[in-house]
Amino acid sequence: MESELLKLQAEAEESLQQITDVTQLEAFRVKYLGRKGGLLTGIMRQLKTVPAEDRPRLGQLANEVKQAVENAFEKQKEQLASQFSATAASKVDLSLPGRFLPFGKLHPVTQVMEEICSIFEGLGFAVAEGPDVETDYYNFEALNIPQHHPARDMHDTFYVTDSILLRTHTSPMQARIMEQQEPPLRYIAPGKVYRCDSDITHTPMFHQVEGFLVDRDVSFADLKGVLTSFTRTMFERELALRFRPSFFPFTEPSAEVDIACVICEGSGCRVCKRSGWLEILGAGLIDPEVLKMVGYDPDRFSGFAFGLGVERIAMLKYGIDDIRLYYENDLRFLSQF
Ligand SMILES: [Zn+2]
Repeated sequence: MESELLKLQAEAEESLQQITDVTQLEAFRVKYLGRKGGLLTGIMRQLKTVPAEDRPRLGQLANEVKQAVENAFEKQKEQLASQFSATAASKVDLSLPGRFLPFGKLHPVTQVMEEICSIFEGLGFAVAEGPDVETDYYNFEALNIPQHHPARDMHDTFYVTDSILLRTHTSPMQARIMEQQEPPLRYIAPGKVYRCDSDITHTPMFHQVEGFLVDRDVSFADLKGVLTSFTRTMFERELALRFRPSFFPFTEPSAEVDIACVICEGSGCRVCKRSGWLEILGAGLIDPEVLKMVGYDPDRFSGFAFGLGVERIAMLKYGIDDIRLYYENDLRFLSQF
């Protein structure tokens, strides 16, 4: 029995050296130290059968062997654990930056449109949205542009039927709102508009913000004040405004509004074609004919209206010289904003 114990100890210690992972370690534990059927446990049980005078000596030896195997087992276990954490640590570099999920942003035109809306909301205007597919009546007739009026030629309209079309401006909301409400009114109507036109400064679909105000004693000075306040906030500096006489069927008098060039501040450059001025919107006092059509008395009420192109403002704000860049869906371009 004595030699059996020593042989078992040597065998156990040798096989422990071969162990390289926790599965093997567990198999070892079951084989040698398991409470049921473990080899050492089996030998301990045989102690009952040895002669009484040998029992104390063999019992002590058996305990020593068991202790030695257990110690070797624990030692191997610790060694494996430290090896494992060392390899794990070498694979994980805690100094690396975390992984970021890609996330989207609003389109620059949408960003500028939201900015325009929030500036006018700050001036007390409410936001109203209307249909993209509009009737000829609201798009033209109600804005003092009857059939065969030459101004219709400027609009390059997409017709769906003779009386249904894709709106060429967001001005139809003027008539739609005035029909249903009494002054005082202060509204802006942002949205997509459509014209059969495409080149470096035109796309068949673009965005417009129409604004109008109707109240008693509204004058051109009020219009000028609102637009000056808007351009100062939008371009974050004081830019001179210039009103040039113009013609729109739904405003009288009408004006094209220019701002001092945002690039050269008025001294002349390629963007402003050496003029020092950039056209940004059309505006005017609402034509009394338009007020009459919705049932307002032009002697009691007056108002102003303006329409601005969102892409145009975005181009000037960000210094973009080709409008088509906004719609080519090139993320390298779009993600800069
Ligand atoms: Zn310039």
